[in-house]
Amino acid sequence: MGKKDKGKEKKRAKTPPSVRDLLRVGPEFDLGAQDPRRIVAGPGDKETARAAALALEPEITALQERLFAESKGGGKRRLLVVLQGMDTSGKGGAVKAIDRVCEPIGLRVAGFGAPTKEELRHHYLWRINKALPPVGSIGIFDRSHYEDVLIVRVRNLVPEDVWSGRYDEINDWEKKLADSGLVFIKCMLHISKAEQQARLLARLEEPDKRWKYNPGDVDERELWDKYQEAYQVALTRCSTDYAPWYVIPADRKWHRDWLLTQLVAETLREMDPQYPAVDYDVETEIGRVQGS
Ligand code: AMP
Ligand code: MG
Repeated sequence: MGKKDKGKEKKRAKTPPSVRDLLRVGPEFDLGAQDPRRIVAGPGDKETARAAALALEPEITALQERLFAESKGGGKRRLLVVLQGMDTSGKGGAVKAIDRVCEPIGLRVAGFGAPTKEELRHHYLWRINKALPPVGSIGIFDRSHYEDVLIVRVRNLVPEDVWSGRYDEINDWEKKLADSGLVFIKCMLHISKAEQQARLLARLEEPDKRWKYNPGDVDERELWDKYQEAYQVALTRCSTDYAPWYVIPADRKWHRDWLLTQLVAETLREMDPQYPAVDYDVETEIGRVQGS
């Protein structure tokens, strides 16, 4: 090994592993084999992890500003974080974690509950299309079009021949958006059944958390295995090069937030948004301003 190669080796060893590579769902993925308490990378304690996540804020907001500036110069790129997970998996907490490291002005959050009567009259992607972030900004979806192959599949809300065609349809739709400049970060917040029980009980025991409790959550919980199966299929059939799925071990909230923040930072770094070239002569304009 030459000197140059040794240098490269050293650098590689020092570079922290890409969280995207560690979490990405590939063809062999098995949800049942994932430990929701696992520490994937990074700090192993709450305090350090929280501080490390927050420390990314200046870099993320700078990249976010560049993304916005790029769009003002005609750039078409935008970022969308899709959050899915069982009840109490921490989708709301995850939104807060991303919000903490972003400028609120460039951030659009949309949540999707059971469709309204009007929404039911349209194709299931109709309400999703309406909520996409504008170019130059970052969107977060708290639940998404994936509900249409999750709860809809588990509860047979439409016939099987209808929901079974949606995986390919979703892939095609995401491909079109990706080609148009939308970058996806699709995250499943993966909690254990025991952790869900503890979180549901906490919601009941703490008066200021009771508003979050929904008796219907227990009905969904009873279908836990069917949901895991539906997730397994959605994750493997719809994890693509252009819109990969990431599975985030989410029993530890601080680790979940650290991982998410890393995913956003890594993705924005790779997007490397650029300030647009100005369409005036800077020297001339300095002269004009000075003489004015
Ligand atoms: P939450 O996010 O806790 O407010 O709950 C929203 C509920 O709406 C969850 O039980 C979702 O599964 C349900 N939901 C979201 N999208 C759909 C959909 N397309 N069809 C049926 N139920 C849905
Ligand atoms: Mg809920």
